[in-house]
Amino acid sequence: MSSLALEVGHAMHDLVARLFSIHRSLTGDGVRQTLSILAEHLPGLTVHEVPTGTKCFDWEIPREWKINEAYIVDPQGHRICDIASNNLHLVGYSTPVNSTLSLDELQPHLHSLPEQPDAIPYVTTYYQDNWGFCIADSERQQLKAGDYQVVIDSKLFAGSLTYGELFVPGESVEEVLVSTYICHPSMANDQLSGPVVATFAAEWIQSLDRRLSYRFVFVPETIGAIAFLSRQVESLKNNVVAGFNLSCIGDDGGYSVVESRKADTLADQVAQHVLRHTDENFQQYSFLNRGSDERQYCSPGIDLPLCTLCRTKFGEYPEYHTSNDDLSLVTPSGLQGGLDVLINCFKCLESNQRFRVTVACEPQLGKRGLYPALSVRGNGETVRNLTNLIAYCDGTETLLEIAERLDRPVWSFYQSIAKLTEHDLLETVVEEG
Ligand code: ZN
Repeated sequence: MSSLALEVGHAMHDLVARLFSIHRSLTGDGVRQTLSILAEHLPGLTVHEVPTGTKCFDWEIPREWKINEAYIVDPQGHRICDIASNNLHLVGYSTPVNSTLSLDELQPHLHSLPEQPDAIPYVTTYYQDNWGFCIADSERQQLKAGDYQVVIDSKLFAGSLTYGELFVPGESVEEVLVSTYICHPSMANDQLSGPVVATFAAEWIQSLDRRLSYRFVFVPETIGAIAFLSRQVESLKNNVVAGFNLSCIGDDGGYSVVESRKADTLADQVAQHVLRHTDENFQQYSFLNRGSDERQYCSPGIDLPLCTLCRTKFGEYPEYHTSNDDLSLVTPSGLQGGLDVLINCFKCLESNQRFRVTVACEPQLGKRGLYPALSVRGNGETVRNLTNLIAYCDGTETLLEIAERLDRPVWSFYQSIAKLTEHDLLETVVEEG
């Protein structure tokens, strides 16, 4: 990997670190604060507020949750489970509490992982009024009998759900959708890798001339995706040609894809092509292994052409949904690799047109300087790649289909396409409609 590439990786990791400790949840100021920091990179980012009680398909926007402070004072007078030190300590959406409990009364409200004694688990209670604290099991085992003062200064009220959207217009109304979530507290891979990779990809695509349009959405998982879809599902169904949900895309593990419901969309083809030529051990998971917002985007009646891109898939690593999913699990090279994969998917979609050779029989490449003058060993592959490309550019197959047929990465043809077009040997087939 070049040092320039890792420079971007380091910038991404810095942004992950800056966003890490914000008190994010399904709704509230943590989501707004996260979006306002992303907007420093993406000035065109629109922030939408959907009021509590709004009907979205079969769901309703919940009450907004505001958290000021939460902690427990143990019988020795020590503050434990303080969200000021780690916001995973509080069960998300906990109702307000200010009371003194015995250890036996407190225990049902504590969550820990005996199999990972030093990790604080991530727990929420979005749709049921309840409260609780998450604690490392090793710490829980040390708790002594006595009086525990529990303080949760929270508020649940009629407010709104917040999500961010950035539309980047291209020449075509056909659009690429990138969705990621912004509702988890202090976790790095299963939270910040997605929004940070999406942000840098959005910056990159805005700096280029584009054929396609791009829509980036930053939503609270599940209800945020449902709210976004309910507001513009018809235009999305008309315009989205491929979509990618991003989750857990910043660690150094292998790449993986969670396929769309029937694994038959352009997004599936592009993701599989890019990943197969990036990582020979990449993992392909069927929709039966779903768990992120592909659940909504691919549901019957919505059926957007979308798959989920990950490095190590959610649920497949021990640090998942615990305090060990931290700033050391996500790395500059991991984030950079995730960004490269997404950008390669964009490039693949941008170039995925049908091309037709403009002359009959083989074009004479030599007189145009397109063929090595001397026939030397080692030129073979490049020349073969070029002549194979020409042989299949009859206007009937897309560049991705040709790349699949020739079992070569689609990016190995970009230079040839540009050169042949420049010499008027290749024309783009204009699609009807
Ligand atoms: Zn998660």
